[in-house]
Amino acid sequence: MNTPPHDQYLKKTCRYCRTPLPAAFLDLGSVALANSYVPVSAPVNEEFRCPLRTTLCPSCHLVQLTHVVPPDLMFKHYLYVSSTTKTFQKHFADYACTVREKLGNAKNPLAVDIGSNDGLLLACYQQESLRAVGVDPATNLAEEANQKGLRTLNRYFDKACVTAILAEFGKAHAVSGNNVFAHINDIHAVCRNVSELLDKNGIFVIEFPYLGVMLEKMYFDMIYHEHLSYIAVTPLTRLLPQFGMEVFDIQEVASHGGSLRVFIKKKEGRHKIEPVVSAFLAEEKRRGFDSEQVYRTFAGKVMKVKTDLLACIEKIRAEGRSIAGYGAPAKASTIINFCELNTRQIDYVVDDNPLKQNHFVPGTRIPIVSSARLETHRPDFIIIFAWNFAREILGKIEPLKQRGVRFIVPLLKIKETVPPDEENLSYQMI
Ligand SMILES: [Zn+2]
Repeated sequence: MNTPPHDQYLKKTCRYCRTPLPAAFLDLGSVALANSYVPVSAPVNEEFRCPLRTTLCPSCHLVQLTHVVPPDLMFKHYLYVSSTTKTFQKHFADYACTVREKLGNAKNPLAVDIGSNDGLLLACYQQESLRAVGVDPATNLAEEANQKGLRTLNRYFDKACVTAILAEFGKAHAVSGNNVFAHINDIHAVCRNVSELLDKNGIFVIEFPYLGVMLEKMYFDMIYHEHLSYIAVTPLTRLLPQFGMEVFDIQEVASHGGSLRVFIKKKEGRHKIEPVVSAFLAEEKRRGFDSEQVYRTFAGKVMKVKTDLLACIEKIRAEGRSIAGYGAPAKASTIINFCELNTRQIDYVVDDNPLKQNHFVPGTRIPIVSSARLETHRPDFIIIFAWNFAREILGKIEPLKQRGVRFIVPLLKIKETVPPDEENLSYQMI
């Protein structure tokens, strides 16, 4: 036990500034990969697990995972579902509109989207009369986009890719990377390549779940192996100047419970730096994002979530009553694995995605089933793991509530429907 496992995945220096990293401030245990769903029919094998821990860079104050799992392991069993919901479409239509406005009167502007998926943002760029090119290494997605007339290069965004884009299309006026910044390990290479691709007055737009929201709302279940960096504005101001770039504008957006859309320009670019940038930096300083104490407090609260939830579950089970779960997104894997829940505590988890049904929750033997099971095997309690859809789920299962089923919502305070908890527990019973 003296040698921790997966030492080969341990990251020794900061992704942004190369400073040696200290020990973790939060340890969520040795956890299975959040998107690795094993079929219930598969033989019982030891699942791949890796420590899930976060640390704070003492120099640039980037919060990041201590261990980086190679991408080919993480995406081997990835269950892709196209994200063409109405919410996403509106999100990207607004996104493209904002980018178009910021480009002003640039002539015949080119927008390049890194990790363009099935081309949702590319289509919105075209709507705004931008020339749009996507880059995505997933063959099926690139093919799907190209068939829809959304030009997509099926490759990684590396130096050779930039050379190819420059040769065929010229310099880019906008480069966008949504989730790229939080999910890519070698962020220096990304910055170098973007800087080479961008026109002098071009803009680089990134979107990521905001660290400030995670700390404030206790969204620790956003921590999983694919999500390598937990970004605030302060560390970006240490990273970007190394590549001749700087932040010039910031917008708050609703995705993932609260994200930032950050606009970056070249130092010599024409855009002026908006006051919101210094406001964010001052606010992050005020909230102590550069102090270890803030993260130790956060870690303490996270441990309390586990203690509270386990005590609640133990009490219910001791009374001989049953518990099911609702929702099996990546964030559910984090809570279930961190709390070390298994079939002794939870009989099954319901999820409406048929691709996940008849699989186990990663790292456990808890089966994922369709919501029809709630009728045939009605539980006494349901834990809602997909907090971002809690309101929607509560509406859907109202009839169960009327028949006496009670609900436990970890982490989330749904102020509109739930009275404040007198005992200050980190879950709510409805
Ligand atoms: Zn750093």
